[in-house]
Amino acid sequence: MIDVHPIMALRGASKVNLFDVVPAFSKLKLFRRDRMACAYCGQRFHERELQCEHIVPESRGGGWTWMNLVTACGPCNGRKADRTPEEAGMPLLYLPHVPSRFETFLLEGRHIRADVHEWLAARLPKSSRIGSRLS
Ligand SMILES: [Zn+2]
Repeated sequence: MIDVHPIMALRGASKVNLFDVVPAFSKLKLFRRDRMACAYCGQRFHERELQCEHIVPESRGGGWTWMNLVTACGPCNGRKADRTPEEAGMPLLYLPHVPSRFETFLLEGRHIRADVHEWLAARLPKSSRIGSRLS
């Protein structure tokens, strides 16, 4: 029996530059991107207690985009209300980013072999916060 390394099997299969693909937005992926931590108080919560928070409020034209959304707990989201972080005096503890394709793969929470996990994690951008929880 030949033991094919899982990475070898992927090589050359894709014609798309995976780094150019903006992954579809989902609430759970957002919470995982932000490590289930509120962007304002820094505490971690269960996903039931987390909300999508618009940095620029929807009423001011802020969109549902990776760069305008962060994770927030209910009390912080309520306190910030319809204001920008500057107006509310609530600076963001971390900045939003668009997850790369590799990061999305991890955020989607599929079962991934440990060695593949390491290979993917090594390709995460330095700004990614999810890499450190992989080991
Ligand atoms: Zn909070």
